[in-house]
Amino acid sequence: MQKDTAIFNLLNKELDRQRNGIELIASENFTSLQVIQAMGSVATNKYAEGYPGKRYYGGCEVVDEIETLAIERLKKVFNASWANVQPHSGAQANTAVFLACLKPGDKILGLDLSMGGHLTHGSPANFSGKNYQAFFYGVTKDGLVDYEQLEKTARAEKPKMIICGASAYSRDWDYKRIRAVADEIGALVLADIAHPAGLIAAGLLNDPFDHCHIVTSTTHKTLRGPRGGIIMLRHDFENPFGIKDPKGNIRSMSQLLDLAVFPGMQGGPLEHVIAAKAVAFAEILDPSFKAYGQQVIANAQAMAKAFVSKGYNLISSGTDNHLMLIDLRNKNLTGKKAQETLDKAHITLNKNAVPFDDKSPFVTSGIRVGVPAATTRGLNEAHMETVVGFIDKVLMHADDATVIEGVKEEVKAFMQQFPLYPELG
Ligand SMILES: *Cc1c(COP(=O)(O)O)cnc(C)c1O
Repeated sequence: MQKDTAIFNLLNKELDRQRNGIELIASENFTSLQVIQAMGSVATNKYAEGYPGKRYYGGCEVVDEIETLAIERLKKVFNASWANVQPHSGAQANTAVFLACLKPGDKILGLDLSMGGHLTHGSPANFSGKNYQAFFYGVTKDGLVDYEQLEKTARAEKPKMIICGASAYSRDWDYKRIRAVADEIGALVLADIAHPAGLIAAGLLNDPFDHCHIVTSTTHKTLRGPRGGIIMLRHDFENPFGIKDPKGNIRSMSQLLDLAVFPGMQGGPLEHVIAAKAVAFAEILDPSFKAYGQQVIANAQAMAKAFVSKGYNLISSGTDNHLMLIDLRNKNLTGKKAQETLDKAHITLNKNAVPFDDKSPFVTSGIRVGVPAATTRGLNEAHMETVVGFIDKVLMHADDATVIEGVKEEVKAFMQQFPLYPELG
């Protein structure tokens, strides 16, 4: 068959889009070329249901070595004693945890989606809100997690699992405080570190592992690996709710989690993605990754300062991590309008509900801005001021096509300083 030019031309077009724009979607990043090469490899041809040494297919001896390396490297990254690298995504990782720990109808407690939480933390639109009885905590007027509300709801409803972690929250978490109330009511704590995982791996944010029973993450956000999910434990333990394996045996949590991923909710693992995860984990173990994490935080703080100096209203007044949430109501703009207008200038970010938003999730009053991808491109604190200058110019002239076209050209010229995948020509 002839080369599929339709698709490869589109992939080149996507490469150009990534090269010429400023990527500020907080959940995105640019992997190394090695990660992409491992992912685009022959390992995609292999079926390997099961786990290393216990597969349902022959010919798994090589992918066994790949998956074992991925697990060993990941355990080293987070000082964990057990890890599962098979979840196809962050949502799948959370699904497996619920399946391993809970029965349908059990109560869970998570951060409200409209306050920065994630769909899989109990949203009625998601399996987590349909199969479990979900309760929520929010943030205070200052934009900080309302731990008092969390504790009050936990004591009143006695959920079996408390979920901490968020998709649009710019501050660190008090894992110890959440564990204390969980112990009072006999609940498990799941930390979903999908967003800040890379900063935690670099030792730059609070470590959830000693306080949270189970930790899940994506691998494609601040961890800068391929698109995927992971589940980890630092300390293994016995399921406190008497959940048994399919044969009726009591098992350790690590065994229940393995069974929940496969055969519980997935078939064959994506061994090509697992190979790419292993490459990314080795990159995280390299000392240069800590410098990357430090630059991410420095850039986020420089960007937050630049926005504040231009009169933008940041939720919680700033950031501890890689992102910030901006309420645009004092600028008379919606999140939707801001996202669509910035897109035209090749500045990519997403509209986002702000706490206590009065607009629908399709419109929203805010934007979420993150720096992990731009930091990977090589932008530093001084560049953040330039970027905020571009954003402000576009937003202040949102209906002026000439200004927007001008900024688009400026953005393209500016980003030429930061080559992306030069090896690809
Ligand atoms: C991104 C994210 C996920 C889901 O990841 P997918 O890979 O898109 O399924 C889960 N939890 C949180 C907190 C996230 O931010």
